Amino acid sequence: MLKILKPDTMVKSIYSISPEDFIRKKIFGLILDIDNTLVATHIKKPDANLISYIKALKESGIKVIIVSNAKKERVEEFCKPLDIEYVYKALKPLSRGFILALKKMDLPRENVAIVGDQLFTDVLGGNLSKIHTILIKPIDLNEPFLIRLKRILEKPFLYNKQYEDKL
Ligand SMILES: [Mg+2]
Repeated sequence: MLKILKPDTMVKSIYSISPEDFIRKKIFGLILDIDNTLVATHIKKPDANLISYIKALKESGIKVIIVSNAKKERVEEFCKPLDIEYVYKALKPLSRGFILALKKMDLPRENVAIVGDQLFTDVLGGNLSKIHTILIKPIDLNEPFLIRLKRILEKPFLYNKQYEDKL
């Protein structure tokens, strides 16, 4: 497996990771993807579970920011109820969005993790920017054609790898 496409951790769902788990790993900042990491692609707004999860992270002192390749309207509408900062049209895997996020959080990259569902954007981007990567099992595999194509290309790199129940 190409090292640059290897996530540091693979977890079934972000909800399996508690704020304490992140703190134990010295992760004090999270760069989150939206689509298929936090909600299915067609879901426009965060649900009550997600709102309280993000709130719990923030109350534990963990900084949270969204870095998404999606359009402004999508990201803005989604982030508003969560009251968190965001970078839209981030062009992941390019590092620009991640660097902006690190700056906004004012944390060294050693204390930050990227959480996402795609190898060629989230994981590759995180590894190129030397940030800890957590790959989440995609929420909904009923995805647009181009993403389904990427899933096929991801397969050889995920072969034999398991999503864990916790961090
Ligand atoms: Mg995604």
